[in-house]
Amino acid sequence: MNTNKTVDLKIIILGSLGVGKTSLLNRYVNNRFTEEYRTTLGACILTKQIRVDNMLVKLQIWDTGGQERFKSLVPSYSKGSDGCVLAFDVTDQDSFYALEGWREEILRNIPSGCEDYPFIVLGNKIDLTDRQVASDEAEAWCKAQNIPYFEVSAKQGINVGHAFENIARNARLQDAEGKDCYLTKSISLGENKKSERQKCC
Ligand code: GDP
Ligand code: MG
Repeated sequence: MNTNKTVDLKIIILGSLGVGKTSLLNRYVNNRFTEEYRTTLGACILTKQIRVDNMLVKLQIWDTGGQERFKSLVPSYSKGSDGCVLAFDVTDQDSFYALEGWREEILRNIPSGCEDYPFIVLGNKIDLTDRQVASDEAEAWCKAQNIPYFEVSAKQGINVGHAFENIARNARLQDAEGKDCYLTKSISLGENKKSERQKCC
């Protein structure tokens, strides 16, 4: 196997406002966390290079720009993506119920033949004690959809890296199968993306 080959993958993160999407990305990419609540402004793209199954993978992770209420953003946001992280807050039942809507919206935009598009679900804020969503309930829903489930805490850095490695692996497997449903080859990590990154978070 050629271990020097780099694969570019676009991963998106969706979920209700306040569930901790930006915090999860900040934990994963920068190993940082802030209590301060700041709505993500503009397009926010974070990149991280990791090794998956002996292959270099450049993850380009897209955060919603504070527009979580607008399902209409999904088609343009998910275009060219290789996988999707669905996030909810274990202390907020409504954010869990909202997952179905996000998933349906993605599936509606996936070309036929690409139904095995990779998802993972993250139940965030497990450091808090006032849970509204039991592990069993979340696990059962994910199992029914055949989606891997991870309980995480962006605040304490619990399980975050493990979860992103899982979606990266599954997204890479899709790529390795030669599926061009997600337009992976069109992603450019050039100057434009850099300036987008500087505008946000
Ligand atoms: P987003 O709107 O989904 O991007 O959510 P943010 O990342 O902006 O986080 C919303 C709020 O939840 C912020 O005040 C964060 O500090 C807080 N938060 C995020 N992740 C965690 C976590 O794992 N544990 C706790 N206790 N708070 C968190
Ligand atoms: Mg945000």
